[in-house]
Amino acid sequence: MQTFPKKINLLHNLSKGFFSYNFPFLFSNQLPERVLIALTYQCNSRCIMCNIWKMKPKNELTFDEWEFMVSDPLFSNIKALDITGGESTLTADFSKKIELFLQKMPKIQTMTIVSNGFSTKLIIKRVKEVLKLLEPRGITLNVSISVDGTAKMHESIRRIPRAFEKVKNTIFELKKLNLTHPNLSISVGSLIMHQNIDYVDKITSWLEKNDIKYGLQIVGYHDTYVRNLDTEESTDFNRSDKPKLIKLLAKLSKPTSWRDVRAYYWRDLLAMYRDGKRRTTPCPFLHDQLAIDSLGNVYNCFSSPAIGNIRDGKTPSELYLSEKNQLERKRMWSTACVKCNSGCSASEATAKDFKSYFYFRLTGKPYYGLKNLLK
Ligand code: SF4
Ligand code: SF4
Repeated sequence: MQTFPKKINLLHNLSKGFFSYNFPFLFSNQLPERVLIALTYQCNSRCIMCNIWKMKPKNELTFDEWEFMVSDPLFSNIKALDITGGESTLTADFSKKIELFLQKMPKIQTMTIVSNGFSTKLIIKRVKEVLKLLEPRGITLNVSISVDGTAKMHESIRRIPRAFEKVKNTIFELKKLNLTHPNLSISVGSLIMHQNIDYVDKITSWLEKNDIKYGLQIVGYHDTYVRNLDTEESTDFNRSDKPKLIKLLAKLSKPTSWRDVRAYYWRDLLAMYRDGKRRTTPCPFLHDQLAIDSLGNVYNCFSSPAIGNIRDGKTPSELYLSEKNQLERKRMWSTACVKCNSGCSASEATAKDFKSYFYFRLTGKPYYGLKNLLK
């Protein structure tokens, strides 16, 4: 149950979001409110659909370089901090860096750590360290653990011995920690691909039986960040998978309540995969979110090429707010976004945009714009 001030804050964020998403020209050069940080490219997994684990990075940003990056005024309005990797908890001075981010981004209200969940002890240690920093500031922490299958299925996708036992152990340890740390929440992210399309019910039943919040994501392919184009042939849905995928998307497209804004994203994916339509789900990366990584790159989003690198002499503001990049951000909706299936923060963006979701609840269809309606 949300407290009254939290509800006021949520309403304020949603109404402000509504205007900035629907009338962006009134908010030109608005500072981002959310940042996704790939804290390291080190990874102790060997996933079949991602090539990050092969990178073995040697020249990641030093603490001073991180300080240079996040001291930029571009980060002064950040309210949501999302930490990913690689496996971010492998970073040696993890909590020191988080403390730096909290100092330089004083408006943070929520933080998320995405983890593969394999090193239980280390993850619990990191989460405890971070909670110590967040609790006095009243910041909530969500830890999202990746689980792509139960038992041998997860092991065959992640290629780590006893993968499922390891993540299960981490999840249950986090749940124990949650008993004494109410500002901690735990969720699971499951990536659906050719290998596990037949196992979705099995995964979700296990999660529901264990009272674990979860979100599904459909596998995507990019020549940046995960650099996984070469895995498409072996992990993408084949002809016989497609009807199963369509059935799954149709099921997820049925909203369970008015608060189920995620249903819009699934309905949109259904139109993309079944009818060859373009994406219409609003994306925060075109409005109020950006991404940065441990090599110094600044991105509009991890599905598009880096805008530039701070080691080449420009500040994050100079890169992100440049006229050239602002034009590129406007262009992306008609280029990179058309076929993008990313569900990253899509629910938050859909809630802020509101009109697409409202239209969907009235008609059951995705919203393709006013021009299309008037045709
Ligand atoms: S998906 Fe995550 S855990 Fe798997 S290799 Fe990529 S970064 Fe590592
Ligand atoms: S390419 Fe995808 S993740 Fe990037 S802004 Fe477009 S929809 Fe969002």
